[in-house]
Amino acid sequence: MPDACPVHKVSLVIPAYNEEAGLSELIDRTVAVCRALNRDCEIILVDDGSSDRTAELIAAAAEDPEKNIVGVMLNRNYGQHAAIMAGFSLAGGDLIITLDADLQNPPEEIPRLVQAAEQGYDVVGTVRAERKDTLFRRLASRTANAVIKKATGKESGDYGCMLRAYRRHIVDAMLLCREHSTFIPVLAASFARDTVEIPVAHDERRFGDSKYGMVQLVNLMFDLLTCLTTTPLRLLSIVGCAVASAGFFLAFLLVLLRLLLGPEWAAEGVFMLFAVLFIFTGAQFIGMGLLGEYIGRIYTDVRARPRWFIRKLCGKRPDVTPDCLNIIRE
Ligand code: UDP
Ligand code: MG
Repeated sequence: MPDACPVHKVSLVIPAYNEEAGLSELIDRTVAVCRALNRDCEIILVDDGSSDRTAELIAAAAEDPEKNIVGVMLNRNYGQHAAIMAGFSLAGGDLIITLDADLQNPPEEIPRLVQAAEQGYDVVGTVRAERKDTLFRRLASRTANAVIKKATGKESGDYGCMLRAYRRHIVDAMLLCREHSTFIPVLAASFARDTVEIPVAHDERRFGDSKYGMVQLVNLMFDLLTCLTTTPLRLLSIVGCAVASAGFFLAFLLVLLRLLLGPEWAAEGVFMLFAVLFIFTGAQFIGMGLLGEYIGRIYTDVRARPRWFIRKLCGKRPDVTPDCLNIIRE
């Protein structure tokens, strides 16, 4: 059990991409929660290059000094995790909480996260008690969580839930990571010493659709895998060895049977040869694809392009060092 550590200022970081329908409800509910927290509180709303009125609504809300909202407009869509990172770069709190803008993570759970963090934990994770998503999404999550658990050796039930709290030093550590494809909960877990998980409610998406289609989900899965570990690369050689041994064994068997049963049998064995060939090419393609995933990410990181650009900042400007911001000067 870690030592208790009070929280003085809370920053909420909320990425929003085409969320105009639910945004005002989100703002009202989070502002109400912040007021009830009785602590210094700021809400950082990151517009991830939305094409609807999201940016406009955020800018309008940031005008109101009562609400303590900082609006961060990215110049295009960089994806949920990059948007959160951009929000982190502006967060001034000693506890930073992320949540989704679609109200699937009820803001009313925030006080419980703060309470848990005050017990001294670096990261407060959450488990969605009754998850309101499609069966496919739930199955994909379950597989991903099992892989993460295996790779990190850390017990955690639900990495997909973005309602999480991070202490200042964990966010600072994450901001130092220059990699492009990242998965924030896993990245945070790699720097955290004391973590705790609490069950939280999960609501259905009432406004708009999920921003994750099949392609984005597959991409996210690979981000998660490659950000987490290089074990699959090693696994590749192990699987390669196993497949090659099986091939050797089959080849030996073929020769033996050819000697024992004569050439007639061997003619039919042509198909067997094809089967062997397929095993090899199949394994090679899987391997090459996986290598490609890593190499692609290495390439993006080697180019070291900025991970996002902020087009505009509204609301109360937080005290942050300007050199950590990628702001486009107009
Ligand atoms: N999001 C984002 N950029 C994107 C995709 C999503 O900022 O390119 C935000 C989105 O507005 C929401 C959160 O990330 O606040 C989670 O997205 P979504 O609810 O679509 O994901 P799901 O709940 O289906 O996993
Ligand atoms: Mg959602």
